[in-house]
Amino acid sequence: MKAENTTRIQFDSLSINEAYARGAAAAFLARYDPTVPQLADLKTAVSEAVTNCIVHAYPDRIGPVILTVAVYPGREVHITVADKGIGIPDIPRAMEPLFTTGNPEERSGLGFAVMQSFMDKVKVTSKPGKGTRVLLIKRLTSRQSAT
Ligand code: ATP
Ligand code: MG
Repeated sequence: MKAENTTRIQFDSLSINEAYARGAAAAFLARYDPTVPQLADLKTAVSEAVTNCIVHAYPDRIGPVILTVAVYPGREVHITVADKGIGIPDIPRAMEPLFTTGNPEERSGLGFAVMQSFMDKVKVTSKPGKGTRVLLIKRLTSRQSAT
C-alpha cells in the first residue's frame, strides 16, 4: 500500500539532536490529530530509537541518522530510524529486556522493550558494519468530530 504522506530528515548522531528528531516527528504527525497519549507513545519510541543511534551506532565518530515518518491509509504510522554505524550482530538478543552493551551505569537495556510496549510493531534489520534500521508502526485511533 502506498503512503499518503511522508517526510524524511537526516541529522548528526549528537545527543542535542534527540529532541529535534522527537519534535520533528511529533510536528509532522500533529496534523493527524493523534490523542495526547498516542503522541506521547510515538515520541517516546522515537526518542529510544534515536538515542540508540547516538549512543551505540558510532562508537568513535559522529555519523548520520535518518528519520522517516510515513502515514498510510487507515492512519497507520510507520517511522524508521536508520544509521550507517556498526550494526547489531544478534538482534533477538539485543532486543531482550535488560541486554545492553553500553555502560551499565548509564544504560538499562530497556530501549527496545520500551519501543515494543509503546508501538504496535517494532522491526529491526541490521548488517554488522553497515548499519541498523528500526521500523516502528502504530495505528492512530480514528477521531470522531465532536458535533
Ligand atoms: P537503554 O536504552 O535502556 O538506555 P540500551 O540502549 O543498551 O539501554 P536497548 O535500547 O534495548 O538498550 O538496546 C540494546 C542493545 O542493542 C544496545 O546495548 C546495543 O548493543 C544494541 N543497539 C541498539 N541500537 C543500536 C544501533 N542503532 N546500533 C548498534 N547497536 C545498537
Ligand atoms: Mg537504548
